[in-house]
Amino acid sequence: MLQIKCPCCGPRDHDEFRYAGDASVGRPAHTDADFERWYRYVFVRENPAGAHREYWQHVMGCRQWLIVERNTVNHTILSVNFSRGTPA
Ligand SMILES: [Zn+2]
Repeated sequence: MLQIKCPCCGPRDHDEFRYAGDASVGRPAHTDADFERWYRYVFVRENPAGAHREYWQHVMGCRQWLIVERNTVNHTILSVNFSRGTPA
């Protein structure tokens, strides 16, 4: 079972967390009217084999938003840090 080391609560099973998407994608500015940029933000995602930055929330614990860097090949957790906000 995958374990995530929450900076507040310590190591916990991933069942306590909710995956919330790719943390490497930047949201376009609210005033940006470029259709292609919004299309890519909403629908187009990379599917990397290797390190991937992801938003996770510790919903069954402290409810903190985290940025987890996970190796998608072997599910090794490379780092866990507080997110500066909620996913856009
Ligand atoms: Zn926690």
